[in-house]
Amino acid sequence: MLQTLQYVPEYKEELIYPAICKSFDALGIAEDMRPDLKVVIKPNLIMARKPDLPVTTHPLVIRAVVRWLNAHGVYDVTLAESSGGLYNAEYMKNIYQVCGMKQLEPELRLNMDFSAQTVAAREGFANHSFHIITPVAKADYVINICKLKTHAMTGYSGGIKNLFGVIPGLEKPQLHYLWPELSDFSRMLLELAQTVNPQLTIIDAIDAMEGNGPTGGTSHPLYMLLAARDLYTQDYFAAGLMKLDPMKIEMIRQALEAGLAKPDEIELIGDEIPEGLTPFKLPDTKRLDFSGNLPGFLRKPFLFFAGRLFKSYPQLDEEKCVGCGKCAESCPAHVIHIVEKNGHAPRTSGKKAVFKKKGCISCFCCQEMCPMKAISVKKAL
Ligand code: SF4
Ligand code: SF4
Repeated sequence: MLQTLQYVPEYKEELIYPAICKSFDALGIAEDMRPDLKVVIKPNLIMARKPDLPVTTHPLVIRAVVRWLNAHGVYDVTLAESSGGLYNAEYMKNIYQVCGMKQLEPELRLNMDFSAQTVAAREGFANHSFHIITPVAKADYVINICKLKTHAMTGYSGGIKNLFGVIPGLEKPQLHYLWPELSDFSRMLLELAQTVNPQLTIIDAIDAMEGNGPTGGTSHPLYMLLAARDLYTQDYFAAGLMKLDPMKIEMIRQALEAGLAKPDEIELIGDEIPEGLTPFKLPDTKRLDFSGNLPGFLRKPFLFFAGRLFKSYPQLDEEKCVGCGKCAESCPAHVIHIVEKNGHAPRTSGKKAVFKKKGCISCFCCQEMCPMKAISVKKAL
């Protein structure tokens, strides 16, 4: 399995474009190209955040990929993403603008088709089909370009997790609700990744996120661009660069067990792994979670009984909450309500969120979507 690593010290087109060219050369991507190819780029645009924050895929990485495609005679290139939140023209126009994607037009088409298609999954999968956004369902060639981050629910977010953004808008919380346990949710992510089956996955780790990812963490730059055709093995590799134990990340552990991730076969091309990489800070949800240390046969019973004792719940900082309702909108269990706030500060809307513990499935979609970082994690014990 060919894995490329290119050292990129900062977000500058003159540094990123040569790194993309070297990576694509090494992976033989030019051989896949033909002039009538319909390419879809799937970035991480989880929420409206400026490109200098380690939340979304940086526009200059996307620009470099589009430039390379154009140089190889491919011009039908669409950027398609369903962010965390609504999936409609008004919502996505704002995301494109704030995340710096608008400046990539006209070389890149920003998707404005907000329909979705039902795509059959492979036989034997627990999910028989997936409802995915139309451009991805109809693409000839999918380039998955994610941001490297820690993640409150899954522990890690890279190539596999990025593909959850092909599920349209508020259908994402429904899948959380359908698969509330991490092991089932992780299996769903792997089944979705195999259904989308991107031809290429790039990890933007020039700047990356540690701590309360995927939206509330802080910067931890690795100064690297990674690329591979095999996203499962690449996620195993990238987790190692973050000094995380890949076997404690459920989706990667399952990918290994299923024979999708093959770390023994990694052939690293490009720059060497630098010395002195420091461990990424874990999200608050994961710091006390030691279930990953247990042998496989004990993990499920442990999670069932003791897991309730160590379960994490969202906790609101009322001072920060502006009552925007984004958390309630994304809560699959419908346990958040927006109510009037008494004695509110003048800058706030006069409303606040109220969380019910009963029914909460600890998916942390609410924390992910809160623009004010008003939601933290509380352990039951
Ligand atoms: S907790 Fe965050 S997302 Fe929810 S209403 Fe308050 S500010 Fe908005
Ligand atoms: S309250 Fe937050 S953590 Fe609990 S189910 Fe709703 S979105 Fe998930």
